[in-house]
Amino acid sequence: MSATFAVVVSGLLGACIGSFLNVVIWRVPRGKSVADGRSHCPKCGHLIRWHDNLPVLSWLLLRARCRDCRAPISARYPFVEALTAALFVLVALRHPFPAGTAVAVAHAILLSALVVVAFVDVDRREIPDAISKPGIVVGMLASLLVLALHADAFPALANRHLASLLASAVGVATGAGVLLAVRWLGRLAMGKEAMGLGDVKLLAMVGAFVGAGDVMMVLLVASVGGSVFGGLFVAGRGRSLAPLTGTLALDGRAAVPFARARVRAPRRAPLTVAALVPAAAASGLGQGARAALSVVLPGASVWSDDGKDVPVAVTGVVERVEAHDGGTLVTVRPEPLSDADDEWLSTFALHRISIPFGVFLALGAAAIVLFGPEIRHFVLVTWPRFVTGR
Ligand SMILES: [Zn+2]
Repeated sequence: MSATFAVVVSGLLGACIGSFLNVVIWRVPRGKSVADGRSHCPKCGHLIRWHDNLPVLSWLLLRARCRDCRAPISARYPFVEALTAALFVLVALRHPFPAGTAVAVAHAILLSALVVVAFVDVDRREIPDAISKPGIVVGMLASLLVLALHADAFPALANRHLASLLASAVGVATGAGVLLAVRWLGRLAMGKEAMGLGDVKLLAMVGAFVGAGDVMMVLLVASVGGSVFGGLFVAGRGRSLAPLTGTLALDGRAAVPFARARVRAPRRAPLTVAALVPAAAASGLGQGARAALSVVLPGASVWSDDGKDVPVAVTGVVERVEAHDGGTLVTVRPEPLSDADDEWLSTFALHRISIPFGVFLALGAAAIVLFGPEIRHFVLVTWPRFVTGR
């Protein structure tokens, strides 16, 4: 097998693994087994035929619809498949066949785990233990077997397998330790939890594969990325409407259903709920109209204990009526609101604009795995020279 052929094989393999990762991303946060039978259409329940399950290709041939019920299939499925294929190709180019294959396989495993973590974190603001905990063990085992993962570790140690395993263990401790310290400082400074334990376990997993030095590089890249893009993300999310279902009744009229809404909980102003309804439902109404609103907050987006959805009913007055996206956006200021409902709505608003830091950790880790030498050179040589003007 030539090195070029190995790259092509890696791409095809990556697309197939990506198809499997789609299943993992959907099933793992729901506590379902990934080995549990074949995939069904989530809408109509039909078994997906093997020839409709080819990575990327089937989505294009089916024109993004289920063959049985014509329900749209999200573009995320082919995206994850294409992304995983691209990552596998980059890894194969970085570590050519045959000498680099052992490192390439270890890195491909880590990148696959990172793809799952990133998408689950975007969806549910949680990092699945089912990925990060076994990931730590796999990373340490890989280090024990593949010496090239930590080639320069502990040069004084004659037993290179032991040196590599030690480097991996120090990576785990550094990844977990540094984020535990950040978490502890955050609690001191803000009096609340700044970071979940999921992020701690994620960086520990990354450390098992890349070691202590690179785990700090990952944290650096993730923090810079998180501050820049996280800010933009929060600004965009705060304004956009969330997919929230419920009903809105105005001035004693019949309640109309809505599918998109926004909850805002500014620090010094009262909380508001805005729902997008058909223009006819709010015609002739303005500020001060009475409003009765019921809304279902998805369990995952309010961190409810049992994961169940939380229904909230509020009555109040209309604060604003504005044309929006072909309908009318009605902003309601609730009055009075029970402490519990206030808490649920505030939590939803907070969740909506909280930064999925795990995504940035995953991106940072992928960047170090793929472009480690270039990033290290930039951080340790180019940047200091630029700053000191030498
Ligand atoms: Zn279907």
